[in-house]
Amino acid sequence: MDVLKDISAAKETFWLNPNLKAVNDADFPISDEQISDASKRLERFQPFLERTFSDCPDGIIESPLKEISGMKTSLNEDGADICGRLFLKMDSHLAIAGSVKARGGVYEVLKYAESLALREGILKEADDYSLLCDQKEFFGQYTIQVGSTGNLGLSIGITAAALGFKVIVHMSSDARQWKKDMLRSKGVTVIEYDDDYSKAVEEGRRNSDADPMSYFVDDENSVDLFLGYVVAAERLAKQLDEQNVKIDADNPLIVYIPCGVGGAPGGVAYGLKRRFGDNVHCFFVEPVQCPCMLVGMATGRHNEVCVQDFGLSGITEADGLAVGRPSGFVGKTMENLLSGIFTVEDKRLFDWLRKLNVEENVQIEPSACAAFAGPADRMKHDDSKKYFENIPIEKCIEVCWATGGSLVPGEIMQQYLTAYVED
Ligand SMILES: *Cc1c(COP(=O)(O)O)cnc(C)c1O
Repeated sequence: MDVLKDISAAKETFWLNPNLKAVNDADFPISDEQISDASKRLERFQPFLERTFSDCPDGIIESPLKEISGMKTSLNEDGADICGRLFLKMDSHLAIAGSVKARGGVYEVLKYAESLALREGILKEADDYSLLCDQKEFFGQYTIQVGSTGNLGLSIGITAAALGFKVIVHMSSDARQWKKDMLRSKGVTVIEYDDDYSKAVEEGRRNSDADPMSYFVDDENSVDLFLGYVVAAERLAKQLDEQNVKIDADNPLIVYIPCGVGGAPGGVAYGLKRRFGDNVHCFFVEPVQCPCMLVGMATGRHNEVCVQDFGLSGITEADGLAVGRPSGFVGKTMENLLSGIFTVEDKRLFDWLRKLNVEENVQIEPSACAAFAGPADRMKHDDSKKYFENIPIEKCIEVCWATGGSLVPGEIMQQYLTAYVED
């Protein structure tokens, strides 16, 4: 496969999914019932979230959808060909965790807390869930553990610590210091590994399995985590409606999402395919040194392959995407639903980070900027160009999913704004 030659050479490329199907013929392994169950659970937790997190005053963890016309013009000046409308889905500014992980991570912790509280008789489904604000001693008997490159740890750590759980976050060497510091300040135990994400997960799982009172959040296989992300789709549909943006066959929705292990982009894209069917086209973006989902899906070997098998380092400035081995669960779930995957060089992430800052006064982290590879490059690669020839691009709605950034400390953002600048 030519695309795998590009991958091994760490060249920017595009993989077109040959297994994409029309939704009527596609496999949707997660049921609508599971999705509405997740959505209702988040509703039940509204009073709890409202009382616990000052940045979540209505108890709904949701982010703005912002049209970014200045960014569109600027990308076009650099050679892109965006002729429809361009939007930014600002999960970078989600409450609690400042990243897309505030969807999946928070949801999984809430679900676990609910299951314990129901089981032990301290909660009924019909109760006002804000009563869980005062159960720290109860939850303190239990431990929650997770392996993370940073942001998942933040979302799990902040939520679980607020409920009263003991929390242990196993951080890979990619994790930024400020994320570890922030967690420790909230009483979370952070264990650091001089190794990659897969190692942090493995150690976390082992540690948790050895303790009967410990629960492990499994980023690679968790259906609950995935469901937390899926709910984003109905929320986006509502926002598009509110902004009078119609999505149909003549006005398709194109969505670009940065991908690490796959859970967040997979869940969001799955929900969107369920909601908008053939009128939405979903693409992932990965760093050239870390295209784990691409190698997994393109070879069909999913979590049996890793980027090191293709001679890549797995090292990237996009810390949220620094995952060498993909989730097999997500790769298989997205087999008929994902349109394709772009890869992007690190340096360009910082160009877009600056551009977004100047044009829109929005600050996001490098990982999140990967989304711009979609609109920037879709006419550059032969296979993506071919794909888009069948789409009425002058009428399409393009959404770049900004996956993180609002918790980045000011001085670190200043470093990002000057990184890789050539004199
Ligand atoms: C986690 C993360 C992603 C990707 O999510 P995965 O579930 O790992 O694929 C993208 N961007 C940011 C900022 C993240 O933190």
